[in-house]
Amino acid sequence: MRVVISSYLLGKPPKKEKSAGAMPTKAAKNITGPRKKVIYKKGSAQERVDALVENLKADGYDFTVGIAMDTPITKAERVVSAGKGIGPKENMSLIEDLAKACGAAIGSSRPVAETLQYVPIDRYVGMSGQKFNGNLYIACGISGAVQHLKGITNASTIVAINKNPNAPIFKNCDYGIVGDVNEILPLLSKALDTGEKQPAPPMKKIKRATPKKEKPDYTIMVCDGCGYEYDPMVGDEANGIPAGTPFEKLPEDWVCPECSEIKANFEKA
Ligand code: FE
Repeated sequence: MRVVISSYLLGKPPKKEKSAGAMPTKAAKNITGPRKKVIYKKGSAQERVDALVENLKADGYDFTVGIAMDTPITKAERVVSAGKGIGPKENMSLIEDLAKACGAAIGSSRPVAETLQYVPIDRYVGMSGQKFNGNLYIACGISGAVQHLKGITNASTIVAINKNPNAPIFKNCDYGIVGDVNEILPLLSKALDTGEKQPAPPMKKIKRATPKKEKPDYTIMVCDGCGYEYDPMVGDEANGIPAGTPFEKLPEDWVCPECSEIKANFEKA
């Protein structure tokens, strides 16, 4: 009751402050640049792992070759990285097995190196740590703090495995599996294991996946009747169509401003 009354007395907090506070959160969503954000949530753990492996192979990753696990992060073509979500220290064997199976070096988040000390301090990835410039980065149990994400902006492909579907890492990855590292990592290791790895050739940077974007179609359309050209960048000001309106977004009853031909009678220029 007191809260209700006082809120009447004080009025609502100014809106400006609220939106200003919300901005950084919004910006923090996409630190690693455009990413595919294909998240596997459904199906069995095995199915999710298989789908991931299939996509990685299609992207050009060859898992018959590998690098040494202690390759410096900045020189590594692939890194399997552990976050606090990995749990107790003995679970680092899951990370080692996966690193071996996919021919990668081992990295971590800052707390895993600094606080938990599961890995040497020079192996943590982030703004204040090492920058990863290679191709494949597999984040295991890493929530995706901004400072960590800033260390992987150059990665060609970011894979995230985390049991929290709301972890920021999923907004910054190409492929994600929502699941427990204890379940997913052994399956992934098994799927990628090709026995002894051949030494990897000098790194070739794999092209970053470009996320599918629904680009508005700014094609110029020509009227069959009179040759009038509808240019979406110009619009049709006289008939209330603002500049930037794609042809397909024109109202159904819009007609050619010159000869009243209907929309259906327009063709691509
Ligand atoms: Fe016309």
